[in-house]
Amino acid sequence: MNRPEEFIPYGRQTVTADDIESVVEVLKGEWLTQGPLVPTFEKAVAEKVGARHGVALNSATSALHVACIAMGVESGDSVWTTPTTFVASANCARYCSAEIDFVDVSAINGLIDTKELAAKLERARTEGKLPKVVIPVHLAGNSCEMVEIFRLSKEYGFLILEDASHAIGGRLDGEYIGNCRYSHATVFSFHPVKIITTGEGGLVTTNIDSLATRMRLLRSHGVEKEESRFIGRKEGPWHYEQQVLGFNYRMNDIQAALGLSQLKRLDEIVEERNRIYDEYERLLTGSHVRLVKRSPGCLSAMHLAIVQFKDEGKDVQRIRYESLLRKNIGAQLHYSPVHLQPYYRRLGFAEGDFPEAERYSRISMSIPIYPGLTKKEIERVVASVISVQG
Ligand SMILES: *Cc1c(COP(=O)(O)O)cnc(C)c1O
Repeated sequence: MNRPEEFIPYGRQTVTADDIESVVEVLKGEWLTQGPLVPTFEKAVAEKVGARHGVALNSATSALHVACIAMGVESGDSVWTTPTTFVASANCARYCSAEIDFVDVSAINGLIDTKELAAKLERARTEGKLPKVVIPVHLAGNSCEMVEIFRLSKEYGFLILEDASHAIGGRLDGEYIGNCRYSHATVFSFHPVKIITTGEGGLVTTNIDSLATRMRLLRSHGVEKEESRFIGRKEGPWHYEQQVLGFNYRMNDIQAALGLSQLKRLDEIVEERNRIYDEYERLLTGSHVRLVKRSPGCLSAMHLAIVQFKDEGKDVQRIRYESLLRKNIGAQLHYSPVHLQPYYRRLGFAEGDFPEAERYSRISMSIPIYPGLTKKEIERVVASVISVQG
């Protein structure tokens, strides 16, 4: 009799004995939160990727939110991102009461279509409706065309906030994503499905001092404790000042300890994910299924392995997903277009607004990729993927 084969999820975290040890040490110590490990983690990430500042938060969603506020996004402003992303990339603009708009993607990789961005900016200039911030999303770990987007930012006067939730450890032209050479700030996520994890957590890197200071203030109630930055007079040693309306968006020391421990393996993790991707590429060559290609000049962190099929028919995606599930393989669609979520439809978006993102969602499917996925499992995934409806 055949033994049922084990379920292979599309992604999963790896937590080692060393990671656990680091967390246990914090639990035995004095500081569970607001201790020394958060700044240590921030510094380690910033140094790793080559940025001046790192600001850690309790999620990438919070990170996107405070970054938008620090960039001055408010009611009456416009923020642009792509529909092929997690809702958080768009929601951050709405938290600031700003208008959101989308730029269509290229259906072959789900990344912002830079030509489309340029054309939309030109139209927006004539209408006097240029965005304050553009949020390019490095989907699956593949870098967007940052050199060209950065050039456009100077021509049209907007700020760039990279959503690199999928991309820590990846590189563009040999340099780590997050060094902000072609942007004003970059956001990473440490949710357990991402490259490295802190349980929940996020971090913004930036080279702009004033942005970092503002984001630090915003993540902790808008409260300033540093006397040199007080607006008023210091009343006594207990004194702190709430200077703006902030939040409790802090990362804690337990999370930072896990992050520091995971960060040590970042390059190894990215290498292993790339090896798995190479294996998929080798095994899928010649089949009717194509893997999304790596961006030119980019070492992808390979957060997702996305395959594309030809048939765009109604219901085929559901049939593919279910037939993989019957074979105990967890697939996922990254992403259903954000503009078609009920909340965004209520803001006026509709089917047909971003046809390439919609097409992308009809042909693309994420298949399992994570450190520890064995050669046998990879072969099982490939056999199942090839057998589903094209
Ligand atoms: C996961 C993710 C986020 C949100 O990250 P959290 O840390 O869960 O808040 C934002 N953008 C993208 C593209 C993501 O994949």
